[in-house]
Amino acid sequence: MMFDYRPGLEKIKPYSVEEKEWDSKLDANESPNNLPPLVHERVMNQIEYMAFNRYPDIGMLDLRALIAEAFATTVQNVLIGNGSSEILLALCQTFGGLGRSIVFPVPSFSMYGTYAQLTDSQAVPVTLNEDFSLSPEKVVEAAEQSKAKLIILCNPNNPTGTIIPKEDIEYIVSRVQCPVVVDEAYYEFYGQSAVNLMKKYEHLIIARTLSKAYGLAAIRVGYMLANTEIVSMVDRVMMPYHINALSLITAQVVYQMRDEFMPIIGQIIEERKRLAVSLAAIEDIIVYPSETNFILIKTKKAQQLSAYLSEKNIGIRDFSTAPLLINCIRITVGTPLENDTLCKAIKEFMTQ
Ligand SMILES: *Cc1c(COP(=O)(O)O)cnc(C)c1O
Repeated sequence: MMFDYRPGLEKIKPYSVEEKEWDSKLDANESPNNLPPLVHERVMNQIEYMAFNRYPDIGMLDLRALIAEAFATTVQNVLIGNGSSEILLALCQTFGGLGRSIVFPVPSFSMYGTYAQLTDSQAVPVTLNEDFSLSPEKVVEAAEQSKAKLIILCNPNNPTGTIIPKEDIEYIVSRVQCPVVVDEAYYEFYGQSAVNLMKKYEHLIIARTLSKAYGLAAIRVGYMLANTEIVSMVDRVMMPYHINALSLITAQVVYQMRDEFMPIIGQIIEERKRLAVSLAAIEDIIVYPSETNFILIKTKKAQQLSAYLSEKNIGIRDFSTAPLLINCIRITVGTPLENDTLCKAIKEFMTQ
């Protein structure tokens, strides 16, 4: 190489997605709906009065207070991130580093491993069982053996859709000393959280995002709940003004009006169930149980099926050649019409 890059960068896989004008965009676990009209109107109204010439509120106190109130905690227990992605990276920067281990499941959100690498930490992946369940004993053992400084859990898990029972989370948290972050990006489609365990365990951290259930992927806002010491330490690795004012205002309105999203979330859950039944009825397709807004399927013809769907301008996430996910495809639950179109296309291909 011509330039003297930081060692290790050559090993980092860029996060790549197939960018296309899909007719049905079911590849990124986004919400199929833009903001509800009432919320959209309020956001636009707020933006109209924004002081574009001023830096945003550095403490982000309004949004943090809203979130703190919802969880009956204090603003000092809430940290906002540029997406929960920034929170996860910041946690790796805070607890990881050279010679320090970070334990996380595989297959799961691929960025965990990337953030561990980026922070020069030792990545310690724990492989899920055949049915994609997580063995809590394996996590504790890996953490002990590697003297882990941070454990990341993903519940429900992306891209498998599977869950970790609360007892298993407590099994892990009660047996380790290092911080454990539960990435609850899909919490709203599952309805169960580890947040109540925070009263009992100071080293438990919850990460959430507005990108999925609240349809704010464009805005990049996530948050973390943790004890005040952890929040103040993680805050040190953040840039000042890391959330722009447009995102802050939008997130505030959306969080305030979050009840408006309940019908949409309910519909996605219903559609997920309907889609799972329809897909399972197609020959040679295995449907994994999901508590999220996506469904993982497995078929021997996954590679060809992916190509076929792409041809039909239906975007899905192809994992068919990914380690531990051979022949798997992840499908985001879309609108009823999109789901019907998808099912029809898959049926056509599988029975041709
Ligand atoms: C989508 C996702 C995130 C990140 O979402 P942001 O848009 O960065 O808030 C984090 N974790 C998991 C498991 C995800 O699927």
